Amino acid sequence: MAGTVKAAILRGRKTVKTVVEEGRKKVENVVEGGLNTVETVVEVGLDTVETVVVKGRKRVQTAVHQGRKTVENALLHRVTMRAAILHGREDVRIEQVPVPRAAAGELVVRVGAALTCGTDLKVFRRGYHARMIVPPALFGHEQAGTVVEVGEGVADFEAGDHVVALNSAPCGKCYFCMRGQENLCDDLLFNNGAYAEFIKIPERIVAKNTLRIPENVPLEHAALTEPLACAVHGFEDSDPRKGDMIAVIGGGPLGLMILHVAALAGYETIAIVKHDGQAEAARQLGAVHIVQSATIRKAIQETRALTPNNRGVDIAIEAVGLPETWQEAVELARKGGTVNFFGGCAANTHVNLDTNRIHYSDITLRATFHHTPAICRKALALIAGGKFQAGAFITGRAHLYELNRVFEKLMNRSTEIKTAIVP
Ligand SMILES: [Zn+2]
Ligand SMILES: [Zn+2]
Repeated sequence: MAGTVKAAILRGRKTVKTVVEEGRKKVENVVEGGLNTVETVVEVGLDTVETVVVKGRKRVQTAVHQGRKTVENALLHRVTMRAAILHGREDVRIEQVPVPRAAAGELVVRVGAALTCGTDLKVFRRGYHARMIVPPALFGHEQAGTVVEVGEGVADFEAGDHVVALNSAPCGKCYFCMRGQENLCDDLLFNNGAYAEFIKIPERIVAKNTLRIPENVPLEHAALTEPLACAVHGFEDSDPRKGDMIAVIGGGPLGLMILHVAALAGYETIAIVKHDGQAEAARQLGAVHIVQSATIRKAIQETRALTPNNRGVDIAIEAVGLPETWQEAVELARKGGTVNFFGGCAANTHVNLDTNRIHYSDITLRATFHHTPAICRKALALIAGGKFQAGAFITGRAHLYELNRVFEKLMNRSTEIKTAIVP
């Protein structure tokens, strides 16, 4: 009997164990299966979300791209645009003119910003520029913008590119071009029409003097490439040597640019300026000394007094463009020094120079005009480099319709350096 009871208990225990074990296994299976299912669901869900995000992004990109194209096409298929036309002395009118189209080798650029310039102001006052512009004509020459039409055969640019197309390009074939003095090219081709919604860039400028703007550079800063190229050229042409003291006469846009370029290159600079605003700008742009006197004669004396033993500066750069300032600039240089007549004077003006001073003091006299393609590239690199204070040179913004008012203000010796004209 005892054996039967024991056996029954044992059997019962085994059954219970089996039941418990099987039950546990079933639960484990269920849990595992459940986990797997949850994981699968999560994974598939993630995949689906990713796909949706990627597709969505693509769709948005396509929409943006097409939208841009549509806008560009719409702009391009406009028949007329607003543009400033120079008719004569102090006579600039904003008119509706045909939108330019790109022939083979050409580009059409939608102007992002055009900058006012001393040369334009001179042209506005005189009504023409012998070499650059004969009225009635499109006006303005410093701009940067976006390519909207690419002529046949242009491989280097496409629609949407940000570019700065310079105001001129050399022929590359004449005596001067062959000697690397492209600024003196016998056949320098000029382009005007920056004060407009669109500007056509001729084939030669597309090929030689149109530069792609790095993405981080605002268009209005890139538009400074042309004047800055002139400034860099004037500075390098003066042949500065380490430790030189450089005086720049004139606080206009170009005087300030030369000063800034010299200061960035590590030279001790003296700014000779007229107005308080110019003195303030010169200080901000790195001038070590500022001379602000009633007359140029006094300014020269005060500047010499800043040099050791009153000996004069190593390099004097005239950036005013007046015969009397040219003459005085010669008095500023030390023995063996250099004078650069950077500022262009009116036609048919002359200067009287002290022959003895020039000969016995061994003074180098030179002048710098315009720029070369290599220097234009240097100028844009300087702007993109970040140290050059591009923003300091653009002191105002105005719509194309306000162009006349802007020039009138500039004629009245305002404190503005450059105004960005936005069409
Ligand atoms: Zn200019
Ligand atoms: Zn040439």
